[in-house]
Amino acid sequence: MPSLLSDHPQIDNLLGDPQRPADPLLSLVVPVYNEAATIRPFLAAVQPTLEHLALRYEILFINDGSHDDTLQQLLTAICDDPRLRCLNLSRNFGKEAALTAGIEHASGDLVVPMDVDLQDPPELIAEFIVKWREGYDVVYGIRQDRSSDTTTKRATAGWFYRIFNHLSPVSIPENAGDYRLIDRRVVEALRQFPERNRFMKGLFAWVGFHTIGIPYTRQQRQLGQSKFSYWKLWNFAIDGITSFSSAPLRIWTYIGTLIAGLAFLYALFIVTRVLLTGVDMPGYASLMTVILFLGGVQLMSLGILGEFIGRLFTEVKARPLYLVEGIYQRRQP
Ligand code: UDP
Ligand code: MG
Repeated sequence: MPSLLSDHPQIDNLLGDPQRPADPLLSLVVPVYNEAATIRPFLAAVQPTLEHLALRYEILFINDGSHDDTLQQLLTAICDDPRLRCLNLSRNFGKEAALTAGIEHASGDLVVPMDVDLQDPPELIAEFIVKWREGYDVVYGIRQDRSSDTTTKRATAGWFYRIFNHLSPVSIPENAGDYRLIDRRVVEALRQFPERNRFMKGLFAWVGFHTIGIPYTRQQRQLGQSKFSYWKLWNFAIDGITSFSSAPLRIWTYIGTLIAGLAFLYALFIVTRVLLTGVDMPGYASLMTVILFLGGVQLMSLGILGEFIGRLFTEVKARPLYLVEGIYQRRQP
């Protein structure tokens, strides 16, 4: 997509110059949680690639309350290089909060959130930047070959995308992760979101702007282990769906109406039968079935109500999303 205004030099966008700055600053935003062993290899792999881009850059690590000596490793790395910074959160707030912190503190014209485990190939950044120069504001990586993930993880991820995109008014591209390039104007848009339940993939989709995906192959994690268990992923999925859709609440109106309708028909049937054939006693089985079934349905709908009320509660409390203990950077000479 060539720049929108390239055919119309006499038109200005009053909200900002769509021209890309000639000497942009790139911010790499890297959340880390117990990654002491991964930081050195990460820098060793990423920095040569960044040097190749011939572009000013900074790497902003967000230490998400690690219990190992991740922070020490980061401080050592920062000593060697003024382009590295570390935002130290006061405890573990989770990846979504850490990412938000990073995006809010990044000073670049372009921001690239990236995992530290080298599952996201750094070479892709060059392709992101080509697309950005063409005029795209968001360029995201599409995990083309997920063979590095287990079959169960791929299947459950597939279900999640299908259900999410069915229920939510904004759809998220399937197999897109957080690895992407976002332009300053999108960063500013994201900073306006006051909500506590952060489902970044959904928020990225919600903001819109000129967006394009680039396929890539996701590598195996090189060092350390994944921080996401299936239980965490399940909760993550519920967070995602409930923060972007109220369909799970609405569905109870229909289920309730349907059950009430059926119950009414059944009542008519019983009354008619009594009128025609007289009173009889059997009915234990049908009674039990109805009671148990309705009990289950009610508990389920209460649970779903609870999910939403719980989320309302966190939003209403309006606590900060994360707390920063310190921002570490090498002292300027
Ligand atoms: N991470 C984080 N806070 C957490 C969990 C993970 O900052 O509570 C970071 C982690 O250090 C890594 C990135 O998020 O840089 C992705 O984590 P991981 O590789 O474990 O996720 P997966 O690739 O398995 O989805
Ligand atoms: Mg990973």
